Amino acid sequence: MSKVYLVSGPSGSGKGTVLESIKTRPDVFYSVSATTREPRVGEIDGVQYRFITKEKFLEWIAQDEFIEHAEYVGNYYGTPITPIRENLANGRDVIVEIEVQGFLQFKEKMPEIETIFIMPPSLEELERRLRGRGTDSEEKIIDRLETAKKEMTYADKYDHIVINDELEKAVSELLEIMGKNERM
Ligand code: ADP
Ligand code: 5GP
Repeated sequence: MSKVYLVSGPSGSGKGTVLESIKTRPDVFYSVSATTREPRVGEIDGVQYRFITKEKFLEWIAQDEFIEHAEYVGNYYGTPITPIRENLANGRDVIVEIEVQGFLQFKEKMPEIETIFIMPPSLEELERRLRGRGTDSEEKIIDRLETAKKEMTYADKYDHIVINDELEKAVSELLEIMGKNERM
């Protein structure tokens, strides 16, 4: 049975990095969210996100396109439901990478999902990673660290917690949770 795996974790905990090798597997569909935030250098519309205006975002909410949506550090993010339904029907597992408010809404609408919280080894390491990534202003980094502290209090509401200390180990743990022991 194909399944939705919902992954959360503070910004900078390494969700994108851990999922990199998993989301391109042919037996997996990675849900592309819509957002009103500006693309980062190297991000491509339709790949990491659908980058849309606030007007369009409100239109999609009105048309019931999102199974959940939330505001995060000043921008809107939402998960389109149609591609998820289609891929589940076609036998693919779905990975949804969203923050905590979205997780709570999603779980309410689709309780059968399996949920994973990616935890950084420490707040100090999280800060180092956010700075090292070099994509956010000082103000955004402080915002994201404050948000991270609140988000980490929800970790025990998830089915699994994966600590992303050593990358390879975190990837293996996630593959095991998904019942995919062999690499592709
Ligand atoms: P997120 O998607 O959760 O916001 P990213 O995947 O962008 O996080 O990772 C944030 C930064 O941390 C990136 O610069 C990434 O290269 C680095 N990183 C991710 N995982 C690890 C790890 N296990 N060890 C060291 N650095 C990591
Ligand atoms: P970023 O701006 O770093 O790409 O993402 C910020 C946060 O928004 C991350 O925690 C990410 O998981 C979350 N996010 C991405 N897409 C969605 C979505 O569709 N819905 C919700 N609720 N959160 C999302």
